[in-house]
Amino acid sequence: MSKPVVAIVGRPNVGKSTLFNVLAGERISIVQDTPGVTRDRIYADVSWLKYNFTLIDTGGIEPDSSDVILSQMREQAQIAIDTADVIILSQMREQAQIAIDTADVIIFITDVRQGLVDADEKVADMLRRSKKPVLLVVNKVDNFDKFMPDVYEFYNLGIGEPIPVSAASMLGIGDMLDEVTKHFTNAMVEEAEDDRPRIAIIGKPNVGKSSLINRLCGNNRLIVSDIAGTTRDAIDTDIRYDGRDYVFIDTAGLRRKSKIKEEIERYSIIRAVTAVERADVVILVIDATEGVTEQDAKIAGIAHERGKGVIIAVNKWDAIAKDNKTIYQHTEKIRQILSFMSYAEIMFISAKTGQRVGKIFEMIDMVIENNSMRVSTGVLNEIMAEAVAMQQPPSDKGKRLKLYYITQAAVKPPTFVIFVNDKQLMHFSYTRYLENRIRDAFGFRGTSLKFIIRERKEDKG
Ligand code: GDP
Ligand code: GDP
Repeated sequence: MSKPVVAIVGRPNVGKSTLFNVLAGERISIVQDTPGVTRDRIYADVSWLKYNFTLIDTGGIEPDSSDVILSQMREQAQIAIDTADVIILSQMREQAQIAIDTADVIIFITDVRQGLVDADEKVADMLRRSKKPVLLVVNKVDNFDKFMPDVYEFYNLGIGEPIPVSAASMLGIGDMLDEVTKHFTNAMVEEAEDDRPRIAIIGKPNVGKSSLINRLCGNNRLIVSDIAGTTRDAIDTDIRYDGRDYVFIDTAGLRRKSKIKEEIERYSIIRAVTAVERADVVILVIDATEGVTEQDAKIAGIAHERGKGVIIAVNKWDAIAKDNKTIYQHTEKIRQILSFMSYAEIMFISAKTGQRVGKIFEMIDMVIENNSMRVSTGVLNEIMAEAVAMQQPPSDKGKRLKLYYITQAAVKPPTFVIFVNDKQLMHFSYTRYLENRIRDAFGFRGTSLKFIIRERKEDKG
């Protein structure tokens, strides 16, 4: 199953963040030790009736001050032009382009109180030409009777019927979501019938993603195909290795040319989200010459939150000086910065020389197997009983945690439900302890495990 991507575009102050927060609501998954990703709130999972989609806020980019100065100087030469508007317009163009590149449905948000402005029309033109489904949303309609006449003005944008909402008062949101989900097609909701492993190669710009894809292709039969029938512009690369077919989802070739560092970062995160969504396994490429960084951690967090199999490929291994401690030092550093994914496999490769690149396929097979492995309930309960015998469960105010039963409820990622007498007593550290026991027994290398704690009445135990 693949989830549609919906992007929000609009001028500053029209209420993009407000709408984003209303839609994300409490459903936004806050994974405490995942740095960056959830704090930035660039994307959120949204459910509406039977639909699930990924919401992306393309806004909120603060331009670099040097960019502002440069463009201010240009504007001074053209006195007639209002500097602020030009900057806003170029930012909006950038946002709209990101939305066009990555989203299945675009929410274009305007402000009834400011009315129609020039920048709205320019962006509307761009969106109309893209042929993507666009919803024209008019925000701040806090009082429908009073503001409706002003809403009709937005018909002039020529991108359809304006949908009045008030993000702040949560008015019209349900109707808007109905319109959004009407645009979801079967192709967006279901991945084609296809059981080939799907692998997303993600990472910061310049870490060697394209080189890696080229190297993987170079040694193998190659078919590069634009995927027909999808609205996304991702290029999938089919590779056959050792008699098996793999689909690599490429985020490398598509790069936004922007001078603004934050925009490039934001764009690479959005690309990563949409690629990870469709993948079984994620290869996070890190540049050995730079070492692992916070930006890598942000991107890694996306794969972790989505419960995908993860392989960390430390690339450019040819380009660094090495002694017998180098691998150890790099591993330590990665484990420290990416501490929330201690399960991830680490490989040291060179896309340039091809060193260990062939091993990636074996690793992918193993990680996929682990990400979809099922353990029988009987065996799980034996392991849990043994673990409990070895380390007493925690207690609080004289009440001790009792663990009744464990069962695996799902795969991708493997998800376990544990029934206990009192949820409050189930400490994070005890869950971690059980996870480690399960990993000792089955490995589950390369995949996260999910635990759901349920309460059950004492007397039934
Ligand atoms: P963004 O820059 O597009 O992300 O806009 P924000 O979400 O930060 O909102 C800008 C301002 O508009 C804030 O002061 C919000 O409180 C306000 N705002 C957002 N939605 C509404 C609304 O539905 N009605 C009114 N009256 N104000 C709103
Ligand atoms: P992308 O932006 O992540 O797709 O990165 P590219 O594949 O375009 O690579 C960025 C730069 O790193 C290019 O100059 C590559 O030649 C170089 N590069 C990629 N892989 C390696 C490698 O394994 N070793 C060395 N020394 N350079 C590499």
